[in-house]
Amino acid sequence: MDFSSFSLAPAITAGITACGFQAPTPIQQQTLPAALAGQDVMGLAQTGTGKTAAFVLPILQRLLSGPKGRVRALVLAPTRELAEQIAVAARELGSKTGLRTVAVYGGVSKNSQLAQLRRGVEIIVACPGRLLDHLREGAIKLDGVEVLVMDEGDQMFDMGFLPDIRRIMRYLPAKRQNMLFSATMPADIRRLAGELLVDPQEVRIACDQPAATISQALYPVEAKQKTAMLLTLLAENAENPVRSALVFTRTKHGAKKLARRLNAAGHRASDLQGNMSQNKRQAALDGFRDGTFTILVATDIAARGLDVAKVSHVINYDMPNTAEAYTHRIGRTGRAQRQGAAFSLVLQEDQTLIRAIERGLGKSIERRQLEALVPCEPDQAAPPPRGRRPGSRPDSRPASRRPGTSARPRRQGRSQSASGPRAV
Ligand code: ADP
Ligand code: MG
Repeated sequence: MDFSSFSLAPAITAGITACGFQAPTPIQQQTLPAALAGQDVMGLAQTGTGKTAAFVLPILQRLLSGPKGRVRALVLAPTRELAEQIAVAARELGSKTGLRTVAVYGGVSKNSQLAQLRRGVEIIVACPGRLLDHLREGAIKLDGVEVLVMDEGDQMFDMGFLPDIRRIMRYLPAKRQNMLFSATMPADIRRLAGELLVDPQEVRIACDQPAATISQALYPVEAKQKTAMLLTLLAENAENPVRSALVFTRTKHGAKKLARRLNAAGHRASDLQGNMSQNKRQAALDGFRDGTFTILVATDIAARGLDVAKVSHVINYDMPNTAEAYTHRIGRTGRAQRQGAAFSLVLQEDQTLIRAIERGLGKSIERRQLEALVPCEPDQAAPPPRGRRPGSRPDSRPASRRPGTSARPRRQGRSQSASGPRAV
């Protein structure tokens, strides 16, 4: 099957060609007919399967005819980076259509967004909070919206955007096309779909399975050896060198600290986390995309859904909270048929989660050990429970004289690392 079977306008076909897409992906094949016919759509597919074009193409096709210079399509996305990424995709796919897309999100000045809006725009891609600000100030009118898309629905829900989304709904006309896309389908999303969608076309594609192009491995480790283990993984892997790695940490502070340590060890690394200004976040992402940084150390929310074409490795420095989050994370590599590897540093206390992940996969993940670790300062004790001060100081003995610098996985009791607040 190719794109010609959808009777898209020539201007849109030209955009598809310019993007280098030859054939629709499965989610595109199965949602485009209904979406182009104006029907509501619920699309469930893992990350990297091409959901963006599945909603952008029908929007472009619809907006080619009808009034220009007013907002006729609204896409809601959970993070600034995702909003920006979707806006870029809409501009690229729509490059020959004359349709204009503006991304609206917080953390940057309202004025430049307002200036773009004043020049006239047909498509808005927005994060809920900043959009509501503009709506309350009367700077954006949504009474001409014909299509509403909620992208990354599960993450929107996790981030607590549902009340904001309900408020935004009040600014929209009741009669419109709705599309909801999500990587997973927890009960909350099913309920939201019930509220939002009318007689939707439901498409579900291998929802909980990571792409077959991703090879996965677990590295049992003790908390204090994680950094040494990571440095070793980054240094070794001759058969599959780490060209660009996305490393996940549990906390914003952890991301910042780890990026600093990697830089000190001679890597080109940046962090990407919610404490950074929007400009710094974008610079980190751009630097990772263009190869200035080979390592991006990120928290979940900062990184979910991001499309970076050439991530060779995803490394879970800290394991996520849920099996679903694991699937999301490792979906950042192996995208669009590229080979990728996903390594996880696992503590004894992660075993329950690992079992849940393996149940979901229907197979066990290979356990690997390293011969010897790159010596480095041991990791400081992980964050203590809320309200307590850290008790231990880093060991200042040289690595060679410290116990436990070998990579052999030794079991240890509950470490403190899971007890800190889960900030992202
Ligand atoms: P998702 O939203 O499902 O995580 P994206 O929409 O971000 O996935 O797409 C993942 C990557 O695949 C992007 O780089 C995108 O340009 C590319 N892509 C999308 N559709 C196609 C297609 N039909 N052919 C080739 N590449 C595609
Ligand atoms: Mg997406």
